[in-house]
Amino acid sequence: MKNGNEHYQIAVIGAGPAGATAAVYAARGGASVVLLGGASPGGQLLLTTEIENFPGFPEPVAGADLMQNMHRQAARLGAAVLGEEVASVDLSRRPFVLSTAGGRSFTASCVIAATGAKARWLGIPSEARYTGKGVSGCATCDGFFYRGKEVCVIGGGDSAAEEALFLTKFASRVYLIHRREKLRANFRLQKKLEDNAKVEILYEHVLDEVLGGDAGGAQGERAAAVSVRNVRTGEVRKLNTPGIFIAVGHEPATAIFKGKLPLDDSGYIVADGRARTSVPGVFAAGDVTDRYYKQAVVAAGAGCKAAMEALEYLEEAEKA
Ligand SMILES: Cc1cc2nc3c(=O)[nH]c(=O)nc-3n(C[C@H](O)[C@H](O)[C@H](O)COP(=O)(O)OP(=O)(O)OC[C@H]3O[C@@H](n4cnc5c(N)ncnc54)[C@H](O)[C@@H]3O)c2cc1C
Repeated sequence: MKNGNEHYQIAVIGAGPAGATAAVYAARGGASVVLLGGASPGGQLLLTTEIENFPGFPEPVAGADLMQNMHRQAARLGAAVLGEEVASVDLSRRPFVLSTAGGRSFTASCVIAATGAKARWLGIPSEARYTGKGVSGCATCDGFFYRGKEVCVIGGGDSAAEEALFLTKFASRVYLIHRREKLRANFRLQKKLEDNAKVEILYEHVLDEVLGGDAGGAQGERAAAVSVRNVRTGEVRKLNTPGIFIAVGHEPATAIFKGKLPLDDSGYIVADGRARTSVPGVFAAGDVTDRYYKQAVVAAGAGCKAAMEALEYLEEAEKA
């Protein structure tokens, strides 16, 4: 206890792949560690049913199982794994102070920010109903399941264009649905889309509903089609796309770091190649600092890096 608060050498905020891996490495490195998981301990992988690209699992693994295993591994190595949401951080004094929504306070010599990001969704009820059952926020993760099938991508920026092009490797046809009359994606990507015979761009269209159909076996009803509408003419069209990829951007979960850590213009934490932020002793890992990759294995690797840096920071601080 320091100042009446529970003290840990390393506090990890966020218990997705980045935070959980950081806790594993930090605890195994001999530090006292608390892993604060927030409202969704496990992070974004809880939103998906099967993961086929996390190394070490020859058979698909459920996102929830993978994350539960990471938490158990961190706990076995000595980390305190808590489902507390951090409501505020004070990074201006040492040790750092973390206050939770549940009224607890922790102090820590190092903080690893691993609060992740959230894929933005359209917010229509049928989208939520079929998330993980046809509706996806990640082509790299789920494109493979749509070999020889038709899919659609919603969005018009660079990531929507990248996702659409990536999906042409598997899908027989890719509809890119964009509400405006022009894409926001860069010229090079637009040219690639135009040159790809599998891609059809539906300008000035919006997704109205995701439609079910297939009984889907043990996992319940899956998406089978979408209904899209031309915003200029009002014409409605049904597309038989069992894969629906929402690519309207991501939002990093950085509200608690605003004004305390430098964020870039999209709200991501700015960290260097060694996971260090501009505040000595504060590190960042995973989707909260990653605009590009947004993959569990990349986040886990980043968590490992952040923990190794934090351990080195503690060692240097002890020597000083
Ligand atoms: C539907 C879907 C399917 C996906 N499928 C795959 C796939 O098959 N393969 C793959 O590699 N990747 C997949 N991804 C991407 C992958 O999930 C992310 O890249 C990865 O989860 C990022 O890990 P992270 O730890 O950085 O963040 P997250 O997983 O976002 O975890 C962030 C954690 O921080 C916590 N948190 C946030 N704020 C606070 C706070 N204030 N206090 C305490 N805790 C807080 C959250 O509760 C959560 O526990 C998928 C993503 C989605 C959305």
